[in-house]
Amino acid sequence: MLTRILKTDKHNPSRRVLEEAASVLKSGGLVAFPTETVYGLGADAFNEEAVLKIFKAKKRPPDNPVIVHISNVDMLKEVSTSVPKRVERLIEDLWPGPLTIVVPRSQKVPAVVSAGLETVAVRMPAHNVALGLIKHFGSPIAAPSANLSGRPSPTNARDVYEDLNGVIDMIIDAGETFIGVESTVIHVTESKSVILRPGPIPIETLRKYLSDIEVHPSILTGNFQGTPASPGMKYRHYAPKAEMVVVEGVYDRVSEKIVETALEYLKSGLKVGCIVSEETARKLPSSVMIEVLAPRNRLDLVAKRLFSALRNMDRRNPDIIIAEGFPEEGIGMAIQNRLRKAAGYRILKA
Ligand code: AMP
Ligand code: MG
Repeated sequence: MLTRILKTDKHNPSRRVLEEAASVLKSGGLVAFPTETVYGLGADAFNEEAVLKIFKAKKRPPDNPVIVHISNVDMLKEVSTSVPKRVERLIEDLWPGPLTIVVPRSQKVPAVVSAGLETVAVRMPAHNVALGLIKHFGSPIAAPSANLSGRPSPTNARDVYEDLNGVIDMIIDAGETFIGVESTVIHVTESKSVILRPGPIPIETLRKYLSDIEVHPSILTGNFQGTPASPGMKYRHYAPKAEMVVVEGVYDRVSEKIVETALEYLKSGLKVGCIVSEETARKLPSSVMIEVLAPRNRLDLVAKRLFSALRNMDRRNPDIIIAEGFPEEGIGMAIQNRLRKAAGYRILKA
């Protein structure tokens, strides 16, 4: 299959591009498009066959559901049978934005979208290309991240191309995404509210709306018992090819430990890669391959560069990757979750 790439402006997307992409969706095809978080791989959410193509293109396990993207609140009522009263203010204040809400699924949404679950995950993206595409298409778009299953999520069109060229119809290239990590996923019922995936909307913000909100226990440890609350939890994600370890603790000790560990690996003849803050990068010897994230105090930039740092490091082919851990505040919880998953929960305590 020939994958067409259409370039457009991220703030003012061209009508022609949106119309062409919408027509691909109408004929049951797949279009990768930018959102404020990462690039998504979209299909008509009401077309079972089209949604099945997403799973095939990504090699995504069939039991991992995808998120339905909408451009107005009426679409929410179309895809869900009931929306808990207590998420109304959250929706009003935070949509469009990087918050996905799991709600009861309506019969209109084919079961494959939710991997057979009775619920469906929904969000309204804050990106003019994504919103414009849904509006032109006129109906909800099912879209997981536009990467091969297990790889880091794509934050630009080149990353999408690298994973999916030849297996999808179109990529809308509108440059880098704004945030860099995937949306926060929450499940809210009348009696309980749980974060299933930490993301750009941090628990500190969610608490103002849902005083009982909890972080699902598997999020930072990778341990869970029985059926996972969100199927995505059980898969190793974002994984680079090389073994990776995350170094965590108080910063001074963390940077010392990273330097010390890097030197040990170098001595044993390994090619060592480090994914670290600017501060730590300055302390490392030049024989180490370095991907610099950002200054320690700019967690927003760390998030933005995280996935491309993982992909870049992969391209450089190290034998072992040492990554720096960050504080779990704000978007830091999402960063830590992605790093730990990428490392298969191999953590070095400094
Ligand atoms: P992705 O779009 O690739 O970022 O993946 C979507 C994430 O949302 C995965 O972690 C899914 O497991 C999760 N998800 C989607 N639908 C549901 C649902 N109905 N219930 C719980 N988690 C969901
Ligand atoms: Mg994904």
